[in-house]
Amino acid sequence: MLPIGYNDRDALLFLQYKIQTRFACSASILTGIEIPERAFDRDRHQYSSSEFLRQILANSPKDAIRTLGVTPVDLFIPVLTFVFGQAQLGGKAAVVSTLRLKQEYYELPPNETVFLERLGKEAVHELGHTFGLVHCRDPRCVMHLSNKIREIDIKGDSFCESCSKLLSKEL
Ligand SMILES: [Zn+2]
Ligand SMILES: [Zn+2]
Repeated sequence: MLPIGYNDRDALLFLQYKIQTRFACSASILTGIEIPERAFDRDRHQYSSSEFLRQILANSPKDAIRTLGVTPVDLFIPVLTFVFGQAQLGGKAAVVSTLRLKQEYYELPPNETVFLERLGKEAVHELGHTFGLVHCRDPRCVMHLSNKIREIDIKGDSFCESCSKLLSKEL
């Protein structure tokens, strides 16, 4: 995990545990980097998630199987108003943004449990893409597409049987 302008230690420790559980591997928290200002889009007031992926690759240790960036800033890809995260399909890098996973973003009282659940799902989802998994039709599966926060809340944080099978071939 590569914190990018991110310093919520509890959230990172939770993610470490979640990733280790779901991918049966060891996960470590790297020394963080600054938010790459070149990724900032002045018109959109958001950050390019593709540029984040490039920075993550550049800061990825050689022995890392995958590197997941975690950042508090809002990310976008050109065709969408925002993304919760992005990954290279079958590649090495993924990124998640915590901004829209927080209740406060929707003007609701803060709820750490809800936030961590969402963060775990998004991280597992994006890392799933790096292992070649595509979106799953099962609404409970962590690989189900979620463009809205409600869709994240509906799905679970684990892989359905068919995604599990595909993943186990990659691990
Ligand atoms: Zn996805
Ligand atoms: Zn699935």
